[in-house]
Amino acid sequence: MTTFSFNPIGTINSCYKEKFGIPRQPNLVPAAETQLLLNQEFSEESVRGLEGFSHIWISFIFHATQAQGWKPMVRPPRLGGNKKVGVFATRSTFRPNPLGLSVVELERIEASAAGIILHLRGCDLLDQTPVIDIKPYLPYVDAVFDAQSGFAENSPAVNQQVKFSQQAKSDCELATLRIGVEVEKLVLQVLQLDPRPSYKQGEKTARVYSMKLYDFDLKWKYLDDNKIMVLALVL
Ligand code: SAH
Repeated sequence: MTTFSFNPIGTINSCYKEKFGIPRQPNLVPAAETQLLLNQEFSEESVRGLEGFSHIWISFIFHATQAQGWKPMVRPPRLGGNKKVGVFATRSTFRPNPLGLSVVELERIEASAAGIILHLRGCDLLDQTPVIDIKPYLPYVDAVFDAQSGFAENSPAVNQQVKFSQQAKSDCELATLRIGVEVEKLVLQVLQLDPRPSYKQGEKTARVYSMKLYDFDLKWKYLDDNKIMVLALVL
């Protein structure tokens, strides 16, 4: 059998430093700014004309999970994590070929000393993700309005209520000053999706959860009424 090998064309620089907490699809957290740095061999010529597109497809490698292999059936979070479907009926990261595909917003293209940088918004990508290819998003072919989407017919609920403690509010303000990103908005959008696995959503727990966002540890807990209380952003 013929095998194919591809070299990455660039690398993602993302605020998501670990898998836990990353949105399960792109565009659910528009406040997340991400950069794609192309390898030095790609000059400005290779992206000429791309600036006219508001959105692009990114194909990438699920590099952090590829060593874990794959199974023919998986439990997608959308089915509450308790019903199995075939791997090819899902967007699972555990696939025979660990390839991911995301449509994301392209804000601008920068020619920097380090190489060409694509400034993106709303990615569902882990930091250091290797990118294999970029293509322009073409609504007239790619947006199919009467498409059926199996068990994922509706967009996931974005209704988890999130409150900020005084500490968390001031941590977010300081973080915004330090890194120049609207951190409170980012935290709100990430936590509104409730990063817990779906079978745990709604569960009462006293546990303090945490995820790495930029170089912070974001800490939160669930109140008795299941609302989220953001506790702190620890450096
Ligand atoms: N939109 C893509 C990805 C969907 S899965 C697709 O449909 O192919 C999205 C999940 O992939 C995220 O929640 C995150 O947990 C995981 N992920 C993102 N980047 C990854 C990487 N480089 N390696 C492993 N998992 C990654």
